[in-house]
Amino acid sequence: MDRKTLILDELPGDPVEIPYARIEGRGDGPHLTVVAGVHGAEYTGMAAIMRWIGLLDPERLNGTVTAVPILNQPAFWSRTAFVVPADGRNLNRCFPGDPEGSYTEALAHGIFANLIAPSDYLLDLHAGDIPESLAPFSLYEESPVEERARALAHCYGNPHVVRQSRASRTVGGSTSTAAADAGIPAIIAEIGANGLCDEESVAGHLRGLGNVCAHLGMLPARDAGPVPPVTEYSGWVWLRTPVRGWWQPAVSPGDRVRAGDVLGAVLDPFGGELHRVVAPDDGCPLFLTSSPAVLADGLLLGLATGARRS
Ligand SMILES: [Zn+2]
Repeated sequence: MDRKTLILDELPGDPVEIPYARIEGRGDGPHLTVVAGVHGAEYTGMAAIMRWIGLLDPERLNGTVTAVPILNQPAFWSRTAFVVPADGRNLNRCFPGDPEGSYTEALAHGIFANLIAPSDYLLDLHAGDIPESLAPFSLYEESPVEERARALAHCYGNPHVVRQSRASRTVGGSTSTAAADAGIPAIIAEIGANGLCDEESVAGHLRGLGNVCAHLGMLPARDAGPVPPVTEYSGWVWLRTPVRGWWQPAVSPGDRVRAGDVLGAVLDPFGGELHRVVAPDDGCPLFLTSSPAVLADGLLLGLATGARRS
């Protein structure tokens, strides 16, 4: 295993150093890049990659693994949820980045050009950040390489899979959209919640890494763990609040809901209802804001729709 550091010293602000590992396998195979810590307090994927680096045996590996445990170094060290402190931008809305852009856009460019663009496949490991709970899910993009991305999403081991169509991309500028646009099959895998680093979620990500490597022929098939039945969704709707208030969800991540069901309410400080949140369609809330404090236009939850069991 080679210990490496990507140094980005032409950002419009403090330079960033990103430690990563490169493991060259004995046999031929693809170049898989696995990253975590695009968001600074989503620790389960970071812990899984740190542990996995020590478990990978180059003698058994076909191909090359580039493993980046903590991508968004400024957000990690400042314990900042979702955004990069220097400019308040979400790194996962800024890919493939812009070398002449804002601090986060330039950071995204350096990461994409050096760590993502040279890959054959990309896994981006997330969790619920500090104010966010979720049910484990994987996300892939509509693209010319989507069948290969979909296969990664289905083998990872998460029970929910969302396909994001190009026309209705709720999330643009993410690692997986930028990779898909560059012809690199990619998924975002989410396990864990609320900025915690619980063992069960770390183990879930570790199982996903093994499953993907076995699927790609990079590790022996016996390294794959069990995969539960998957519900795939054809898209999702992100619900926001029009007003600032106290968010009181009436559902939990992973619940099945019907169109018209009440999903929660935004209250005033006296308990009065300012805004009622109703499901616009049948679906499953995969993530929701668990902090009661929501600002006007604040994100409340992501409702996956168009369920199909496979
Ligand atoms: Zn995230």
